[in-house]
Amino acid sequence: MNDKDNGKLIAIVEDDPDIARIIEQVLGDFGFRTLWCRSGNDLLRRLRQSAPVLCIIDLGLPDMDGIEAMQKVRAQTACGILILTGRAHVSDRVMGLELGADDYMLKPFEPRELVARVRSILRRRENLPGEAARSIARFSGWQFNQANNTLRTPGGEETVLSTAEAELLQIFVKNPNRILNREKLMGGRDDNASDRAIDVRISRLRRKLEPEADSPSFIKTVYGAGYLFLAEVSWEGD
Ligand code: CA
Repeated sequence: MNDKDNGKLIAIVEDDPDIARIIEQVLGDFGFRTLWCRSGNDLLRRLRQSAPVLCIIDLGLPDMDGIEAMQKVRAQTACGILILTGRAHVSDRVMGLELGADDYMLKPFEPRELVARVRSILRRRENLPGEAARSIARFSGWQFNQANNTLRTPGGEETVLSTAEAELLQIFVKNPNRILNREKLMGGRDDNASDRAIDVRISRLRRKLEPEADSPSFIKTVYGAGYLFLAEVSWEGD
């Protein structure tokens, strides 16, 4: 058992009680607390009182599509999101990741692999706040607060980034004006996300960061090498 995960609350949004029971059991075995929600609305209702660190969301829910549920969760909280689904289409996977899921797993699943994925997401999230004194990065009027994954536009509008996006932006603001290959952009993570997954994250992050998608001003593609974050970055407290 991992003491650090002891007692952390994970919401399971799943209409199939047998699957929900398996997930509750394996997460419970590893010291997590669980909250079973039978539908998207059930989850949204319970988020008013509970603050799970992560939501495991089934795409096929009785009252709404899991993607819709995920977007509503994203609008309300900055918790991690793991999609668990029987849909194997690449388009579903890409859409899920583009819309802010931290990871995506297919049914049937191996319970221990589910736990490994959950831990991996939580570890990445814990690594994000990092150096508390240097938690706010500023560049060209933008502000990125690593403590809560929020990005503020020069106009003052705030967006909450997904864990994956925040992780990527963190690597960029810490290494401005340098070519970063995909391996570096994965942040040394142990899960084997593909090049495609990085490109999907880049395009998501660009959409939030670049007003003109056709001529990105911050994240430059360096063909054959990776990406480069073109900006003067200063840190709160510097
Ligand atoms: Ca279902």
